[in-house]
Amino acid sequence: MAIITNAPRGTQDVLPAQSGKWQYVEQKALDVAGLFGFREIRFPTFEHTELFHRSVGDTTDVVQKEMYTFQDKGGRSITLRPEGTAGTMRAILQNGLLNDVMPLKVSYVTSCFRYEKPQAGRLREFHQFGVEMVGSAAPAADAQTIAVAKTIFDSLGITGLELEINSIGCPECRANYHEALKAYFRSHYEELCETCRERLDKNPMRILDCKNPACAELAKDAPVVLDYICDDCKTHFEGLKKHLEAMGIAYQVNPTIVRGLDYYTRTVFEFVATGIGAQGTVCGGGRYDGLIELLGGQPTPSIGFAMGLERLLLVMEQCGCEFPPDQGCTIYLGSMGEAAALKASELCMRLRDEGFYAECDIVGRSVKAQMKYADKLHAKYSCILGDNELEAGKVRVKRMDSGETEEVSLEADAFIRFIYAGTLDELTDETDGILGSISKIKGE
Ligand code: ATP
Ligand code: MG
Repeated sequence: MAIITNAPRGTQDVLPAQSGKWQYVEQKALDVAGLFGFREIRFPTFEHTELFHRSVGDTTDVVQKEMYTFQDKGGRSITLRPEGTAGTMRAILQNGLLNDVMPLKVSYVTSCFRYEKPQAGRLREFHQFGVEMVGSAAPAADAQTIAVAKTIFDSLGITGLELEINSIGCPECRANYHEALKAYFRSHYEELCETCRERLDKNPMRILDCKNPACAELAKDAPVVLDYICDDCKTHFEGLKKHLEAMGIAYQVNPTIVRGLDYYTRTVFEFVATGIGAQGTVCGGGRYDGLIELLGGQPTPSIGFAMGLERLLLVMEQCGCEFPPDQGCTIYLGSMGEAAALKASELCMRLRDEGFYAECDIVGRSVKAQMKYADKLHAKYSCILGDNELEAGKVRVKRMDSGETEEVSLEADAFIRFIYAGTLDELTDETDGILGSISKIKGE
């Protein structure tokens, strides 16, 4: 039978050599968000299709063109999440989290699915880190949320991202803007793409982020929303700027940002990279004061963002950011004969309890082949146990880089103490052992 070797277009494998980078970035993002009080939420990969129609919006590209929607065997319409906010809000409402202390702050790492044209930085299954802050209408909340993203970029060593902010007003002032947009685009009706002609009356702002080149060209000269926002929205926007300045976060006002999802109100923002090609937006977010009400909850002002992790990693490569090295093998405990193999296996378990990466023979290799394998692992130490060593209760341990050897007792605590002393310079708090007994040996 032929082997299936091709994954669907627009998907990507993360191989063991790369997965450390993903773990690092995801953990860093979660940790930084934690410093602002965000805690992780996990929600399903698929939801009722209706959720995205109502939240993301019927006239958006995401809903009209990009969703993976199918009927399940029970005849329900199901959609793979194209983004994380809708599922998060659904989970918050369903689980009554709005009764807790406000603001509620959650973060997530998720895969998202959009049927798009795959290219660099644009996939059909991609990954986002996001945060949502629910229950504050104040501009300080917008600024704190933006600060989470900024701190994540800084802590990863990313430079050269530009923060662009805009306000797209509230439903009241947006009505005037919609009229102005309709008038403008109506006078260019013939140049609009099919989809945008339909959007013109229902949701003219969506034309502004249409990817069709003719529409994008027209959008350049369209009226800008900042000229239409009401005094309250203006005050909010000025408040945001003041808070950003107080936190030392540089920004640029970009009046053309409208974002591609319908639920946004007032603040919208993006972090944009210049060097990774056309898909330069690494992070996008904004305020969505009407969303929870739209989903059937009490009106609850909220703000959030999502960053694309594939694009984030592209930017990190481009900036030459450093990633922590994978944990190298500390020791290979080879053996000859069954009794020695059992002893090696016992010592390995003890070493792992202490947080060391230890390996022994699980293939039944010859001694020569075992040494070769230890070389391939780049193990720091190796040794071979045999009947003689068991009898003497000692083994010669070799430092693989220098070839130096030393006789070490096979008594577990003594053995661990030796390994511990030899790796002292490399140990961090995290390597303090899953059972924490290194501290015991250290005598703390
Ligand atoms: P774009 O304008 O690039 O299509 P978007 O406005 O559709 O982005 P959002 O819905 O705001 O994107 O998603 C937030 C982030 O998720 C984006 O800034 C981007 O980094 C990432 N992202 C969105 N779509 C994709 C995709 N198809 N592949 C990879 N990353 C994506
Ligand atoms: Mg998009």
